[in-house]
Amino acid sequence: MHTYISDNLMKVRATLLPGVKLVAVSKYHPVEALQEAYDAGQRIFGESHVQEMVTKNEVLPKDIQWHFIGHLQTNKVKYIAPFVSLIHSVDSLKLLREIEKQGSKVGRTIDVLLQLHVAQEETKFGFAPEEVTSLLEEGECLSMPHVRIVGLMAMASNTDNEAQVESEFASVKRLFDSLKPRFFADKAEFAELSMGMSHDYPIAQRHGATLVRVGSMIFGERVYR
Ligand SMILES: *Cc1c(COP(=O)(O)O)cnc(C)c1O
Repeated sequence: MHTYISDNLMKVRATLLPGVKLVAVSKYHPVEALQEAYDAGQRIFGESHVQEMVTKNEVLPKDIQWHFIGHLQTNKVKYIAPFVSLIHSVDSLKLLREIEKQGSKVGRTIDVLLQLHVAQEETKFGFAPEEVTSLLEEGECLSMPHVRIVGLMAMASNTDNEAQVESEFASVKRLFDSLKPRFFADKAEFAELSMGMSHDYPIAQRHGATLVRVGSMIFGERVYR
């Protein structure tokens, strides 16, 4: 069927560089909207609230890959551990330990990205670049049997200054390129860079994004209730 959402999806897909995967960010949108995107072939959906993702997972098709992209509280990991496909927003060792614990309980190895803080806004979560390096040097997170670190995630500053956004994405890519041989030389799975939203994904993919998280451009503006 031809719909507003399927049209938007096609437009966004047409602009993706080869190898870039689209995460359709569906937070605050009703399951009918997700179903439309699903019917248009979309399989990766991004949500930022645990309860909302759990509810949607219960009613939507089982071959959807659910990506968690919001700030994740340790006490809520248990609700998504049985089915989440990728957690983009890991920002502490404490959270990694909890993912390890819950992954072990349900017998899954859970893929995660380490979220970096590169934006100027103070409100954004994530590790500073030097914190990621010391986390990896310390090593515990690299030997967790139920956690697999598959890359990095970042959000750029929310600004019209393209040069600023450009330099933030470029710095994430440089960090990724330096961490890869140092800590992941024998780990081919460390290959993902989640960067870019509706307003800045064209810039992000020019700087090496492999996952772009696009919401309003597909589903329209969110209505916060
Ligand atoms: C909401 C959200 C997005 C999508 O934002 P749009 O501007 O609607 O594309 C991407 N990433 C994160 C982390 C988000 O919370």
